[in-house]
Amino acid sequence: MGRSYSRQAEIDHIRFFPAHPGNRAVFMVEARSRKEMRQVRELFDMVGQLAEVVPISHGTVMSYAVQVQGDTSLFGKIEWLLKTQFTFSVVERSFSDVTFRLIRSLCEESNTPVEELPECGICATVDPFPTRATVDLKSQEEPLHLAYCTRCTARFAEEDEQVLIRELVRRDRLRLRVAADAPVMLMPEIIEERPEWESDAVAITG
Ligand SMILES: [Zn+2]
Repeated sequence: MGRSYSRQAEIDHIRFFPAHPGNRAVFMVEARSRKEMRQVRELFDMVGQLAEVVPISHGTVMSYAVQVQGDTSLFGKIEWLLKTQFTFSVVERSFSDVTFRLIRSLCEESNTPVEELPECGICATVDPFPTRATVDLKSQEEPLHLAYCTRCTARFAEEDEQVLIRELVRRDRLRLRVAADAPVMLMPEIIEERPEWESDAVAITG
């Protein structure tokens, strides 16, 4: 990353976007034509109505990270759709750095561009669904965009979310100096719960 901020850089305020850890899976599909690429994309656009979807690569290797809250039967349905419609597909029900390394190497071999995914500011693990924060410094206009993986967030978990996010930012490799009373703004959920009728309208059920 190479970014480094002096410990003296004074924080004006921290905006905290809590993560909502759920069950996760990564899907990889080999798309052999433009038509197949489009079909895969359309399928995951649909999945995006029911779950959080983060595209990882788009090309010969199509891959997506998906997170659901609660019921994981959606994963089985996606897996079935992929297996019946495409020649080669893989699902990883719990993913790690190894998964992302595998995707990257498959993408390299097939010249598929890979999206840049959020990296944990503490341990550098890739996490498509991180806890996020933006930090406004008094000395610069552009805020810093920070992300923390599920594991680090759990490790420093606190009753008080303000204490948690200050601690995460304090441990960030940027080495920011975070005062115990640095103002924290808790941001509303980015992911909205979808009403039942909306999910019913999607053909992926059944
Ligand atoms: Zn981490």
